[in-house]
Amino acid sequence: RLSDRLAAVASYVEAGAVVADIGSDHAYLPCFLINTGKAQKAVAGEVVKGPFESAVKNVQRKGLSDAVTVRLANGLFAIEDHDAVDTVVIAGMGGTLIASILESGKEKLQQVKRIIAQPNLHAKAIREWAVSNSWEITDEAILKEDGKIYEIIVLERGQMTYDELDLLAGPFLLASKSAVFSEKWNRELVEWNRVLRSLETADSTAAVTLKKEQLKRQIELVGKV
Ligand code: SAM
Repeated sequence: RLSDRLAAVASYVEAGAVVADIGSDHAYLPCFLINTGKAQKAVAGEVVKGPFESAVKNVQRKGLSDAVTVRLANGLFAIEDHDAVDTVVIAGMGGTLIASILESGKEKLQQVKRIIAQPNLHAKAIREWAVSNSWEITDEAILKEDGKIYEIIVLERGQMTYDELDLLAGPFLLASKSAVFSEKWNRELVEWNRVLRSLETADSTAAVTLKKEQLKRQIELVGKV
């Protein structure tokens, strides 16, 4: 059984998709997508040898080697043109790392129609990358599992403009304002206020002043919702 988090990610894969799961670790997601008949074919990419080997073993043990190709590669370089990958999944990492994987392997996205990103934090970096690279947000989700809050961002090609709050909190998540969403931003507000208070007693160097300004701005923005 998949975790609720990965099951939610899988729900955004369209039937018949050819999927590349980048940073696949045990290859649980591609195996699930093939076993349930949702995906046609999958590539599991891993940059670290240990997880790569466990992905290979897992795929072999499940008898899925024909449908799931495991490759040791950095980011999107696990994708080869002949794979005809149309869906990229990058899950379980920080948003900054996900955005940098997308940025450095951009040329591998030519045949890709949908990106499903699941950042553990800093989802904003992914939304910013999307805007600068002509992808638009077509759906989002937020969920809590084992006390941790996760976001999912679905991107398709398109041009959109988002305001500062959309980029920070997510246009679809803002519109739905779920209980988990409120909990996430309440947690952030508490943390930002704590940092702000601790900075009040610090020497007012330029860096401290800038950080305080940024925090106040974020508190004001998020405070509105
Ligand atoms: N995607 C799985 C999930 O959501 O459960 C595994 C998440 S695991 C925390 C992150 C995985 O990404 C690790 O196995 C790590 O080795 C891999 N990873 C990190 N940077 C990567 C990169 N640039 N290219 C490929 N894999 C990467």
